[in-house]
Amino acid sequence: MTTYEQKIYTVINASTEHLTVEQIFKQVKEEYPKVVLATIYNNVNKLWKAGLIRKISVAGSPDRYDRTQKHDHLVCRRCGRLVDTSFEDLTASLRNSVGDAFLYYDLKVFYLCPDCRKQLNDNNNI
Ligand SMILES: [Zn+2]
Ligand SMILES: [Zn+2]
Repeated sequence: MTTYEQKIYTVINASTEHLTVEQIFKQVKEEYPKVVLATIYNNVNKLWKAGLIRKISVAGSPDRYDRTQKHDHLVCRRCGRLVDTSFEDLTASLRNSVGDAFLYYDLKVFYLCPDCRKQLNDNNNI
């Protein structure tokens, strides 16, 4: 791994925030002030293609990046906030229905986060 790849990998693995490329850029810049955004884009892409980090795409939000360690996500349908969670491992059940061609699954569960629920309730009370 190059210095930048190593740094980006560390930043992503140290975070539970599901960082966008812009946010990764800000953190890398603290240590390497000369780095440019395009370099971060390229290196994030390389790490993702190598399977070292995970990309989370939600329509309407920029792509976010995450550690590969197995976990699932709750996504707020209203504000787009992403929360780590862990559901029962579905691998066995999927392998049963899909067969040997099964590779992996990437689960996103949509919900309304507590803040959005609160806001909606408050609005209803006016
Ligand atoms: Zn929300
Ligand atoms: Zn996550």
